[in-house]
Amino acid sequence: MSRLPPRPDLEWKDDGTPVSRAFDDVYFSLSDGLEETRSVFLKACGLPERWSDRERFTIAELGFGTGLNFLGLIECWQKSTRQPDAWLHFVSVEKFLMSADDARKALSRWPELDALSELLISRWPVRMRGLQHIEFPEVNVTLTIYIGDAEDWLYLCDFKADAWFLDGFAPAKNDDMWRDRLYGLMAKHSAPGCLVGTYTVAGHVRRGLAEAGFEVAKKPGFGRKRERLEAVWPDGKNDEAVPDPYVCLPDRATFQNVAVVGAGIAGACVANAFARRGYRVSVFDAASGPASGASGNPLGLVMPRIDAADTMQARLLLQCYFRALQFYAHLDDEAKIPVTARHFAQNDKERTRFEKVLADPPLDESWLTGEWVNDSPVLLHHGAIMVRPTKVVEALLDHPNISCVWNAPVSEIDDLRNDIGEATLVIVTAGWTSGTMMTHAGLSLAGKLGQVDWTDQLAPCVTSARADGSYIVRTDNTLLFGATFERVKAGETPDCSEEARQSNLEAAMRLAPDWMQDVDRSDLKSRASVRGTTPDRMPIAGVLFETGSVLPVLGPLAHGIDVCEPVPHQPLNYTLTGLGARGFTFAPLLADLIVSQALGEPLPLARSEVEQVSPLRFLIRAVRKGTTYP
Ligand code: SAM
Repeated sequence: MSRLPPRPDLEWKDDGTPVSRAFDDVYFSLSDGLEETRSVFLKACGLPERWSDRERFTIAELGFGTGLNFLGLIECWQKSTRQPDAWLHFVSVEKFLMSADDARKALSRWPELDALSELLISRWPVRMRGLQHIEFPEVNVTLTIYIGDAEDWLYLCDFKADAWFLDGFAPAKNDDMWRDRLYGLMAKHSAPGCLVGTYTVAGHVRRGLAEAGFEVAKKPGFGRKRERLEAVWPDGKNDEAVPDPYVCLPDRATFQNVAVVGAGIAGACVANAFARRGYRVSVFDAASGPASGASGNPLGLVMPRIDAADTMQARLLLQCYFRALQFYAHLDDEAKIPVTARHFAQNDKERTRFEKVLADPPLDESWLTGEWVNDSPVLLHHGAIMVRPTKVVEALLDHPNISCVWNAPVSEIDDLRNDIGEATLVIVTAGWTSGTMMTHAGLSLAGKLGQVDWTDQLAPCVTSARADGSYIVRTDNTLLFGATFERVKAGETPDCSEEARQSNLEAAMRLAPDWMQDVDRSDLKSRASVRGTTPDRMPIAGVLFETGSVLPVLGPLAHGIDVCEPVPHQPLNYTLTGLGARGFTFAPLLADLIVSQALGEPLPLARSEVEQVSPLRFLIRAVRKGTTYP
């Protein structure tokens, strides 16, 4: 199986309706696809009335196709009466993602949807396997789409639907999707009172839904179809506890306000994410302004790391990268600059990895191509961006719901809570110093000193970027290179050094001797800051806990037995830290993760990806190995 997901094989009816050749079926009713959406899905699911008193509402769909249902839904959402700051989540799956151009062509039939179509097309999902979290803050809507098979999605992802749109081609033409197992999985993902709409009345669909516990009824059909189905998931039928040792789904706490400790990129993304959802956010930082630590370099490079195989970790890295691109796209051009970044292999191991990536790329050629230099593969990332970190952080904090408190060092999360009150959600995002504020969780964060060197006296140059572990970027009059990665010892005050500059110069000469010819070395400036890193180099994002109370519950893991009790945790305390050298890539999506966990919304990552960043993972590994922690 190729890493790149398959495209559908399309043909077009004269009226512009797309048809799948493989399934020999239309994407929507020949009578009128939009009217079908309104009747078979929206009306059947009690919309818009059911969301009128809800702060958030989740709709799940089988088969995203052209996105017509999604747009019909947004149109209805926009016209309806809703709570202030109400948010709509649309979670969907698509095994054969069509191109944005094909979707535009299919949707062009409804001029009344033109503006919404353009909005969707501008953020059309990337052709890549796994989850993508795409936000439409203009309309308070999030699309979380899994590119892959419907059944895999239902096994891997976490959400509770208030409504289902079952739209995966006619069952007789797609029995692979409408299998018996599907309905039990749907039930697990249904909130009490969930309603289901579909155009099919196929006997096995009716029986499957009924056997899974849905109450099913036939209704008059739309267009040429005589009948369709509606179903309801009766109240409170699926409360069985699922083991969750990593606390991917924390308890929901009630809170009115949010306090964020740290005003770097992690803090700015978290603060902005809660502010967008209508919460008042206070950001505390020991410094006198934003981005004083690792987020304060003059330029940063946001470029994906591409692993050789399609692992959960590999997916997580790419998902974070694409969410970051989409997130920074809202910012001024001053803050982010598009660039094609050339990634050179550092050693034989990396050469082999790059060869594998190019032989079976996870992304198409609009994002990733390769070239050969001196018999070595080079990855070209066409969607990379350079960011001006301080501008990004300032822009994210510049929100009417955010207030910043400068010169406000926090020594312990509990001390802060004494000042801000109980009904406040606290998120610690203080980089490598985060650990000392949450001693009860014993997170092992190491500080790594990173020095960058730059000149801003260059004659105007073409924007370009090269990397091989180190990186060099140039734009306008600035050329910047770095960064070192040295362990900081406890009690040490990190600073710039001549030694670090020499090491950066060596890397710059290796990567770009041609660019370095124009650099007057006496002009160079330096900046050093400390990045928080973790033993497995993955970030930490999630709810906090107290080691002492968690250990007895995790005990069975030492004997290879599942944890069956709920793991005690602190639903009002979270952290986002340990982002290492990839803060600008990781922070936007992991901030979304924290929002979804704190508000009980669909998770933007698959369960095993959330486990990869869980604050509990180090403790769980230690218990499994029988070693001490931290
Ligand atoms: N809801 C869509 C819209 O608004 O345009 C139309 C959906 S179309 C009738 C059915 C969709 O289901 C197709 O896009 C097809 O590729 C997708 N599909 C078929 N089998 C699937 C499977 N096993 N897993 C996920 N998606 C599947």
